[in-house]
Amino acid sequence: MSDNIVAKFGGTSVADYDAMVRCANVVKSHPNTRVVVVSASSGVTNYLVRLNETNVDEAERSAILQHIADIEYAILKHLGSPKDIQAALAILLSELAQVATDGELFESPWLKDKLLSYGERMSSLLFSEVLRQSGISAVNADVTQVLKTDANYSAAVPDIEAIAYEVKKTWLPEMAETVFVTQGFIGSDSEGNITTLGRGGSDYSAALLAEAINANELQIWTDVIGIYSTDPRITEHARPIPEISFDEAAEMATFGAKILHPATLIPAMRKNIKVFVGSSKAPLDGGTWIYQNVENKPTYRAIAVRKQQVLVTLKSPNMLHATGFLAKVFTLLANKNLSVDLITTSEISVALTFDNSQMLTDDIINDLSQFAEVNVDTGLSLVAVIGNRSFEREDYDNSLLTVLKDFRLRMVCHGASQNNFCVLVDESDDTRVVEELHTQLF
Ligand code: ASP
Ligand code: MG
Repeated sequence: MSDNIVAKFGGTSVADYDAMVRCANVVKSHPNTRVVVVSASSGVTNYLVRLNETNVDEAERSAILQHIADIEYAILKHLGSPKDIQAALAILLSELAQVATDGELFESPWLKDKLLSYGERMSSLLFSEVLRQSGISAVNADVTQVLKTDANYSAAVPDIEAIAYEVKKTWLPEMAETVFVTQGFIGSDSEGNITTLGRGGSDYSAALLAEAINANELQIWTDVIGIYSTDPRITEHARPIPEISFDEAAEMATFGAKILHPATLIPAMRKNIKVFVGSSKAPLDGGTWIYQNVENKPTYRAIAVRKQQVLVTLKSPNMLHATGFLAKVFTLLANKNLSVDLITTSEISVALTFDNSQMLTDDIINDLSQFAEVNVDTGLSLVAVIGNRSFEREDYDNSLLTVLKDFRLRMVCHGASQNNFCVLVDESDDTRVVEELHTQLF
C-alpha cells in the first residue's frame, strides 16, 4: 500500500467520549489513515496494575472494577449504548472481573498480562464505534492475531517476521476499505496467550504495525504539541521542536524524554517511516516531525534529564598494561542483565553509570569486588544535550563546558556520538544545569 498512515492515540487522547471524538476528527482529516492504535483510557492500566498487587483487599478490588466499568460505560452511553457494543463490553468486563479474582493470578505471569490487556481491548471496541458514528468505516481488529511476540510476559519481544506475515495475510486484504482500530501494548505468544510489551508500549505497537503494513507515516497523538527542547516543567523557555532526526530523537528517548516509548523509533528507522508527534487536543497547533534527513541540523536541539543515576567506579591495579579487565566487567554485567548507560575509562579504572531502577544488588557489587576496587555513588542525574555537534575543527563548539563551569561534573561523555553530550551532575543541581544550558545555548 502506498501513502498510508498508522495513527496512535494515547491514554489521555481516548480518556473519555469527548476526547475520542476529537481523535475521530483527526482520523477524518487524514483520509489515508489505515490503522488506528489506541491505548487504554487514561488511568485504566494503572487500575489494572493495582489489581495485580498482593495487598489489594476485596473492597478495593471491587471499587477498582467499578471505577473501570464507570469509565467505559460513560463512553458507551454517549454512543447511545448500541446493543452489540454493549454486549461485547459486558463480556470484557465480566472476564476482567474473573481474571482479577483468579486465585492463580499472583503466580501466573501470563494471567497478569491477560489482566493488563483489558484496558486496550475496551478502548478499541469503543473507539471503533466512535469512528463509525462519525461516518468512517471502521472495524475493531484483535491485534493479538497479528502482533506475535515471544513468551516473555510483561516485556515481550516482538517477532517482526511473524507480524509482517500475519498482517499481510489477515489484515491487508480488507484494509483498503476500512480503518482497522486496534489495541496497543498487547500481543500474543506462539501458544496464543496474551503478552504485553511493557508500560507505555502502545507507541511501539503502532510503530511495529506501521512497519508491517509498509506505512509511510506514523502519527503519535498525545496531550502535548510535540517533543519539547526540554521538559517545560523545568524551564518556561522550553519550546516544541518542529523537526528532529531519528538519531537525535532516539538519543532523547533513551536519555529521559518521556514522550515516546524508547523502542518506538526502531521499526520507523528500519523502514524509514516518518513519525509525527502532536496533540489530539490541538491537532492544528503543529507538532514534531521525526525523520531521517532533517533540513536543519542545529548544534543544540534538546536537553534531556534522567534522575536517580548510579555511578560505579571500578579500579584495578592490575589494569595497568593488562588486557581483559573490561571484558570481565562487561561479561559479569551482561550475565546479570544489567545495561550500562555511560562509560569512561582511564588506564587503571573504569566508571559506569546505571539507572537506579535496575537492580544493582549487593551480590553484583560483591562479584565485581573480586577483581576490582568498587565505589558506588548515588544521588546523581544524567543530563544529555542532544544535537549535531561536529568534531571537525572549523565549527567545533566548546561553549557547553563553559556554561557548566560552576557545576560539579562527576562524569563527562563526549566523542562517541555526534548527537549527544552527557554529563553526570548532582541531582540537586540538575534543574539549574538544564536552565543554564537552555538559556545559554538555545
Ligand atoms: N496502557 C498501557 C500503559 O498505560 C500502554 C500504553 O498506554 O502505551 O502503559
Ligand atoms: Mg505513552
